[in-house]
Amino acid sequence: MGASIALELQRAGRSVVVVDRGDAVGAGSTSSSSAVVRFNYSTLAGVSAAWESAHRWADWAGHLGVGHLGPGSGDTTGATTHGGPDGEPLARFVRCPMLFLEPPGFPRVDATRLLSTVGVPHEVLDEDELARRFPALDTGRFHPPRRPDDPAFGDAPSGRIDAVLTTGGGFIDDPRLAAVNLMDAARRHGAELRLRTEVVEVPRTAAGRVAGVVLADGSRIDAPVVVNAAGPWSAGLNRLAGVFTGPEDGPVANRPMRQEVHVVPAPDGFGLDDGGAMVADLDLGYYTRPQAGGTLLVGGVEPDCDPLEWVEDPDGVSTTPTVACFEAQVWRLARRVPDLAVPLRPAGLAGVYDVTPDWVPIYDRTSLDGFYVAIGTSGNQFKNAPLVGQVVRDLVDACEAGHDHDAEPVTTWCDRIGQSLDLGAFSRLRSGSATTGTVLG
Ligand SMILES: Cc1cc2nc3c(=O)[nH]c(=O)nc-3n(C[C@H](O)[C@H](O)[C@H](O)COP(=O)(O)OP(=O)(O)OC[C@H]3O[C@@H](n4cnc5c(N)ncnc54)[C@H](O)[C@@H]3O)c2cc1C
Repeated sequence: MGASIALELQRAGRSVVVVDRGDAVGAGSTSSSSAVVRFNYSTLAGVSAAWESAHRWADWAGHLGVGHLGPGSGDTTGATTHGGPDGEPLARFVRCPMLFLEPPGFPRVDATRLLSTVGVPHEVLDEDELARRFPALDTGRFHPPRRPDDPAFGDAPSGRIDAVLTTGGGFIDDPRLAAVNLMDAARRHGAELRLRTEVVEVPRTAAGRVAGVVLADGSRIDAPVVVNAAGPWSAGLNRLAGVFTGPEDGPVANRPMRQEVHVVPAPDGFGLDDGGAMVADLDLGYYTRPQAGGTLLVGGVEPDCDPLEWVEDPDGVSTTPTVACFEAQVWRLARRVPDLAVPLRPAGLAGVYDVTPDWVPIYDRTSLDGFYVAIGTSGNQFKNAPLVGQVVRDLVDACEAGHDHDAEPVTTWCDRIGQSLDLGAFSRLRSGSATTGTVLG
């Protein structure tokens, strides 16, 4: 997020300094991202932002301004494989279909209407069509999601399910590299990067505006605009800035949450190149996506039976996967994909989400003039990184010119899909969007 914002602010003619307490670009929560690019969000803004961003991933070299576009660039049929200007590698957008397996009562009409409005290709697969196209799947209905120690976990399914299939999505093969690509592009435009540089204070001017940042070594960077893109650490940075402490910063706050993603071998017929798909399975309570090397990633979708692991300090989080979470997520996948061979030991990682109550991010100004946030990315905003730089640029431009974004939300233009995006959807003052209340947004 920070690298994308730096690129667009610098491109717009501002002088940007990126400070990151880490040792490397993209080494925060981005490095553990599953990097799924999908479009099934509960809000129009969510679908539009993801669809626009997919077009930018599809033309990654063009988006970065480092090369020309290969065949199919500018639409979602081409993947960028070019190196950067100095031959450095670029992240790749790997195509993969996405299946959304619905829980009972899911408002499919509303969901598909949003996809149609934005123009995302999709089809509804009934149970027979789902079984025909994805024979590796058990198309039974297992709802509600259960813990493995629930006596009913192994019960036979009670019916069958339908699915919504979207195409045009996929995943980014190396999310950390994508951040590096954005930062390299920002630096080529003149942005300055300072690693191992921690913000410890956010001073104010006598007039009450943000004055810049104070760093751990005691030095200070004066700046009229500061953007908090500190991921799971962003609530801590907001505390330093004295924002999100009262109603002027609204009811929407963000908190870090530990999250595990596991790795299992892909069974024949459900790998990346042999019939597999990314699956969001709200019927059983997991998501999966194939990856190169013949494995599947398996993550969670916050079913009611799973405890939420809120954490106070993202630095204190164990990155080792646990047996309990591994079994819950992988065994659920094994019910859906009966040929899955469940490994004896957990493999995978734990990362940290930065979660808002409605699982929608906050891209906004704050009650401290000049202090902006790109936070609360809720486990689902890596895909939107190519657009978020522009979102923050447009917010900064408008608000610094005196526009009252809180009263009259700024819009940004999604040039790849030819649609306008209302940034009020990401306001800290929103009353709470009607969403799945899960990582699916
Ligand atoms: C396990 C997991 C799976 C995910 N899967 C997906 C997915 O499939 N699809 C999707 O779209 N999204 C996904 N996400 C979400 C997505 O990865 C994040 O929303 C996104 O990467 C957040 O990027 P960021 O730049 O905001 O945060 P980060 O990458 O965490 O970067 C924040 C940076 O701020 C720095 N920082 C913090 N505090 C300070 C300070 N005081 N001073 C200086 N620097 C500081 C940190 O060092 C860090 O580099 C997933 C996230 C996780 C954890």
